[in-house]
Amino acid sequence: MDKRYRKNYQMSVVENLSAIKQHGASKFQEMQTQKYSCPKCDGVISVHNRKCFQCDHITKLVEKRID
Ligand SMILES: [Zn+2]
Repeated sequence: MDKRYRKNYQMSVVENLSAIKQHGASKFQEMQTQKYSCPKCDGVISVHNRKCFQCDHITKLVEKRID
């Protein structure tokens, strides 16, 4: 029916697959979970204890912001 839409949809699937092939599944997953990056140094935060691997800064992602 809509050839262009279907082509675009297919493209994004292909792009995802090629990204996984290029970077590996773990890297792709890492790219999908970019929220787990340290606000202090931009380092990678452990998803288990929210602790930055680089500067030991702990990010409490689940806590509500208190302004
Ligand atoms: Zn950090």
